[in-house]
Amino acid sequence: MNHIGQETAFEVLVKAKALEAQGRSVIHLEIGEPDFDTPGHIVAAAQQALEAGATHYGPGAGLPELRQAVARYLKKWRGLDVDPATVVITPGAKPIMFFAILALINPGDEVMYPDPGFPIYESMARFVGGTPVPMVLREERHFRFDPDEFRSRVTDKTRLIIINSPHNPTGGVLTRADLEAIADVARERDLIVLSDEIYARLLYSGEHVSIATFDGMLQRTVLLDGWSKTWAMTGWRLGFGVFPRELVPHVERLISNSVSCTASFAQEAAISALEGPQDAVDNMRDEFALRRHAIVAGLNALPGVSCLEPEGAFYAFPNITKTGFSSRELADRLLQEAGVACLSGTAFGEYGEGFLRFSYANSLENIQEALQRMRALLASAQPVART
Ligand code: PMP
Repeated sequence: MNHIGQETAFEVLVKAKALEAQGRSVIHLEIGEPDFDTPGHIVAAAQQALEAGATHYGPGAGLPELRQAVARYLKKWRGLDVDPATVVITPGAKPIMFFAILALINPGDEVMYPDPGFPIYESMARFVGGTPVPMVLREERHFRFDPDEFRSRVTDKTRLIIINSPHNPTGGVLTRADLEAIADVARERDLIVLSDEIYARLLYSGEHVSIATFDGMLQRTVLLDGWSKTWAMTGWRLGFGVFPRELVPHVERLISNSVSCTASFAQEAAISALEGPQDAVDNMRDEFALRRHAIVAGLNALPGVSCLEPEGAFYAFPNITKTGFSSRELADRLLQEAGVACLSGTAFGEYGEGFLRFSYANSLENIQEALQRMRALLASAQPVART
């Protein structure tokens, strides 16, 4: 257990709630979840399923109708021809990375992962005895990895390459050329790619490209996606993965040893999300686009702060080095002294130092208020520990 990490967003949420319980006002820009309600037709589908008795165990890998619906969805939205037998449904998308890493990584295997990046990749790689190898995402490259540096860090022990585009926490998006560089190495060295595409529908311009569409890549990609972000369904716990065919029975055994299956009525509602009207998804993205503009402009107007325009997801990742604060100290003091909950860039790995992550899944009004509170804090506070 000494090797397992955590997701700091949940810890900060607990601290922020404790402050609120003492009567303090806190603006929540820490947790990565849409502030919208799940669209009504999806809720209605779950209610109907409950009433019709979808309250029993189901097949471990998911309801066949839902696995087929996922395959149709991926055809429509990614141009992928996926066999429903390779689709696995899980309670949230997180278990897809958990199971993929458990199934694939032996002690000593190297796992390449984005740093800064979603903290569970590194945590899980360490937990199973693997060696996490960071693919550093630098601001000057708009938070995309450097292909030459990437190639130089691939070794005979590399087993898995994890990518995430659109990216949490930076909002960066990989280009087709970036994906080609990964696919070339994966094909050459017979490696698996875990492609976390949970923010695929939250792209502000252009089309999402899945690495699984590249020649020969479907059979070496674990594609991770789910319902949490696209349809504002975080609390439903619904995710899916598309696995290389030979991995599916192993993942099914992991499921039968852990969660047994995903909630049956939730899976029926998941079909409605995939196949019903998509206007709520578009409206959410449009609303996020307005907030993105507001938060990026506001952050850039703060002394010592600069922020790139995120290209996807709903996170801003400003550079705060010129404020003189370390990321951790500024995040702590923003919460304790200004009532603004955000995350230190270091919650996403050591290369997150010098940055903060703000989730802009909150109202424009709250975003403006948070920016004012930050301005006031930066005008009056001095760093205790200098960077
Ligand atoms: N991948 C990334 C990059 C995420 O940000 C998240 C959620 N914060 C997940 C996966 C997990 O999503 P879920 O809630 O469906 O488990």
